[in-house]
Amino acid sequence: MRHKGDIFQNSGKANEVPLVMYIDMNSYFASCEQQRHPELRDKPLGVLTYDSPNAAVIAASLEAKKFGIKSGMRLGDCKQLCPELITVTTHPSWYRQIHVDVMAILRNYCDDVIPKSIDEAVMNFNSYHLVYTDLSAIANKIKAHIAAKYDYLKCSIGIAPNSFLAKVGTELQKPDGLIVINPANIDSYLATMKLTDLPGIAKANERRLLMIGIRNPVEMRHSSPALLRKAFGGVVGDYWHRRLNFAEVDMYSRAENRTMSATRTLSRVQSQNRQVLDSMLISLCTRLEQRMVKSELFCKELSFSIRYKDGTSWDTAIKLSEPRRDSMEMVSYIKERITDFEQARKLQPLFNEHVTNLTVAIASFMNGKVMQYSLFDNRMKKDTVRKVMYDIKDVYEQNNIVRKGCELIIPNVMKDAVGFGSVKDMIVKQNGEVKNRHLLEEDKPGVRRMAVLKKPEPPRQTEPDYNDIPQNEEWEGVPLFHGLHQTQPDPLPKKVWNGR
Ligand SMILES: [Mg+2]
Repeated sequence: MRHKGDIFQNSGKANEVPLVMYIDMNSYFASCEQQRHPELRDKPLGVLTYDSPNAAVIAASLEAKKFGIKSGMRLGDCKQLCPELITVTTHPSWYRQIHVDVMAILRNYCDDVIPKSIDEAVMNFNSYHLVYTDLSAIANKIKAHIAAKYDYLKCSIGIAPNSFLAKVGTELQKPDGLIVINPANIDSYLATMKLTDLPGIAKANERRLLMIGIRNPVEMRHSSPALLRKAFGGVVGDYWHRRLNFAEVDMYSRAENRTMSATRTLSRVQSQNRQVLDSMLISLCTRLEQRMVKSELFCKELSFSIRYKDGTSWDTAIKLSEPRRDSMEMVSYIKERITDFEQARKLQPLFNEHVTNLTVAIASFMNGKVMQYSLFDNRMKKDTVRKVMYDIKDVYEQNNIVRKGCELIIPNVMKDAVGFGSVKDMIVKQNGEVKNRHLLEEDKPGVRRMAVLKKPEPPRQTEPDYNDIPQNEEWEGVPLFHGLHQTQPDPLPKKVWNGR
């Protein structure tokens, strides 16, 4: 049995037989809504985090996409493209339930199923090459099996010798696609794509490749490892050469190198309230505390970054003298750094109205089971209390009745957000029901997120309300194409934190 955290299963060897399948659900959130509400089917539909004219559409139905509507577009602009657009707000627990059911369906065909996000999974059929002779037939069975349970859900399936190319296969045909990539046809498929169509190649990487004379995916595949190393500045170039030439480098992620992070993008209204920023910081730390409790981990590194409207940012990294998991301790370390910086520079406060994004990340984990608690320290007691609290939270999770005092400064500042990248905060009960273990907020229809949002809103914003763009929480933690992210907080400590 393979383990997700085992990097050695990324064999790195080229294998030319297409034995990896990638499944990508089409227009996932919108289709989930149309599944539950047949009256919304075959209609242009946009899914919003909350109902406001300034909100951005986080997911569009296939019908809405035909009008040119894309995820992240402001509702006002969408309405101009398609006046009859219908909107609904998100129902995260419903999307999670379907995710769990779809994963259960996939496990009927193969025991090596790795969920990559709420609407994507990779299936490794390498140990099944004698069992299944025709993976396309299996793919069609999977589609039929999903349709039998959820008749409105469609998926694109890619089959290829490695997980990267299988994912490329899902990009090539939408909706309801099925593409098999093999050594004989790969160049003809790549010839239809631009560099930025490759998952993991965004503008910055495209520029690096163009500078070195690589203009398209076919040229990239036939470039030497040395040239690609030059383009990407090191071993990452080797990875690119290998993934385009049928070697497996992406299927499993290395658990011990993991970073956990929580990030939040703020709307203009939110960033104007200092208290909201403070609450947001506490919420982010609490979310990481919850994850550490759940996975019995403590962290020894902590980093925090603030991004501003003009594209600048402020980052700090803290090396902890002892492993920690307490959210309020994390908050106080971060605040101390902020205060030090502000006093040294005498500039305007770091938490100001130009803030657009806050990210807290933790790394360098220790397993709680082998942790040495220092003598005469009440930490052990505190950790027991914390565990009990989260267990109680699970029992009384409806309406999030049980809260820590520190979560109450501004309640609901952290709405339950389904990150496209995150499926980590989920547990499944024996009867298949999903519990959103350790999440702060449940989706409650009709409840507005925050008191401050009740202020009259400006008639028209010049930029989208970033608060509605899907929150890619912990996307470093889901490194399908690890090493390629361009916006990671600095993981290296700049100064050793000397305790309290
Ligand atoms: Mg999808």
